[in-house]
Amino acid sequence: MSDMWDVIVVGAGSAGLPAAIRAAERGARVLQVDADEKIGGTLHLSSGQISAAGTKRQKRLGIVDTAQAHYDDAQRIAEGTIDPTLGKLATANAGATYDWLEELGYEPINHMPVSGGAHEPYLTRRYYWAENMAVAIHDVLKPVHDKLVADGKIDLRLKTRMTGIVTDADGAAVGITVDNGGKAETLHGKNIVVTTGGYAHNVDLWKEMTPDIPLRAYTNDYSRGDGLVAAREIGAKVDGADTFLCTFAGVLDDPKDPYSTALGMQFAPQMREPWEIYVNTDGKRFVREDHPSVDEREHALLAQKDQRMFVVFDEGIRQNAPHINPLDPALHDKFGNHPHYTKADTLAALAKQMGVDAANLEATVAAYNAAVDSGEDKELGRVRMFRKIEEAPFYAIHAGGITVVSPAGLNVTADLQVVKEDGTPIPKLYAAGEVLGFGRLSGKAFVNGMSLMPALSFGRLLGEKILKWEAARAAAE
Ligand SMILES: Cc1cc2nc3c(=O)[nH]c(=O)nc-3n(C[C@H](O)[C@H](O)[C@H](O)COP(=O)(O)OP(=O)(O)OC[C@H]3O[C@@H](n4cnc5c(N)ncnc54)[C@H](O)[C@@H]3O)c2cc1C
Repeated sequence: MSDMWDVIVVGAGSAGLPAAIRAAERGARVLQVDADEKIGGTLHLSSGQISAAGTKRQKRLGIVDTAQAHYDDAQRIAEGTIDPTLGKLATANAGATYDWLEELGYEPINHMPVSGGAHEPYLTRRYYWAENMAVAIHDVLKPVHDKLVADGKIDLRLKTRMTGIVTDADGAAVGITVDNGGKAETLHGKNIVVTTGGYAHNVDLWKEMTPDIPLRAYTNDYSRGDGLVAAREIGAKVDGADTFLCTFAGVLDDPKDPYSTALGMQFAPQMREPWEIYVNTDGKRFVREDHPSVDEREHALLAQKDQRMFVVFDEGIRQNAPHINPLDPALHDKFGNHPHYTKADTLAALAKQMGVDAANLEATVAAYNAAVDSGEDKELGRVRMFRKIEEAPFYAIHAGGITVVSPAGLNVTADLQVVKEDGTPIPKLYAAGEVLGFGRLSGKAFVNGMSLMPALSFGRLLGEKILKWEAARAAAE
């Protein structure tokens, strides 16, 4: 294989795999590098929930749906904050991407599609996931990719981290620099496709982009924002940090490690009705704990100082409520033995350990107990109040908003070319996936499946179209 590739795909995750597969299937000479020792990126972690309209599966089930309806519905949920050009491109291509995955053997859970799940529901059934989450997507892409690698159609280099993008005198991208196990190398390509994912695993970049948002994350170790930094170094425009929305909610196993989010905490009332109350750092309730809208709860938490909250309850609730974290049956042993799991004989002593005002916490609990007695929560309108908080010892779990994605990213044109600060494209440089910023496709909300599916679709689209687009551009010049 020559050392001038048609396409260099940087990253072999959700967007990079379809990009490399589809480009190689069309005869392009593809080089693909990934910093990790394996392919798949965030597919190994992601919940794998994807949305698509106009799919063959929907048609078989008699579900009438269109890309336009998907787009309109997504904008409804995000209150019009999705980038219109990319939102339309993503929804217009999601159906074909979904059908392609099914052709490759992807099987969603039997009753799919549904309209909702972890986030605000769509108005139509266009939301899918598989038993094995995103690993199910990885598992159908990998054999196709493996074969193209084995046939020499994709030159795959793992443990090879892109460190920069090389440009020519006209500013066009002509290659990348990589660190290959301590060895620096320059690789040349006619087109560069950056699919390096988000940056939530880069503490410094996170601080720079969103200085007011504390980082508590559950992400791929390689989501370090390398593509964003490299493109920015050659003049690419980066924005979108203002679209951050935290997920409700998480608890750090290690207070000093922002990536130690405990798995399994049940905060969604649809999964487990809350028996506890949630208070902020002032010791006051800030949200209707059983509010059916996750968007409502997430925005309420986002408005709290440092997105911190405490789950407060008593011994009676501990003994009677369903377990708050089914993945951690020994959770109770942590109370009094872990900085994020506090226990005390009085509410005042509990407040002291939580670092909140004792009088406020006592007044909050008294008002809640009165609401339980009267059956009416005048303050926040909670519907289900199982029992009062009155029996020592009292407990608090220190939780907070978490993230699995990063909001800011690269700006691109309608054909996914990276653009500069002045809005003009950087020739031969393309990007897809979370490197565009989660907010670009999901706005100021979590819209069902609007990160993973756009990553897959834009990767697929680039793989299928990049050479055609470049040929058309060359012909026009
Ligand atoms: C726990 C979790 C649950 C999620 N659930 C959902 C969901 O249900 N629905 C949804 O829509 N979204 C979900 N997301 C988000 C979604 O999965 C991601 O946004 C998407 O998978 C990102 O795809 P990507 O291709 O941009 O990045 P990735 O899949 O992370 O791929 C990036 C690849 O680039 C490589 N790389 C990074 N830097 C370099 C470098 N310098 N040089 C070479 N290679 C590099 C990485 O190793 C990686 O393989 C979830 C995310 C997480 C973490």
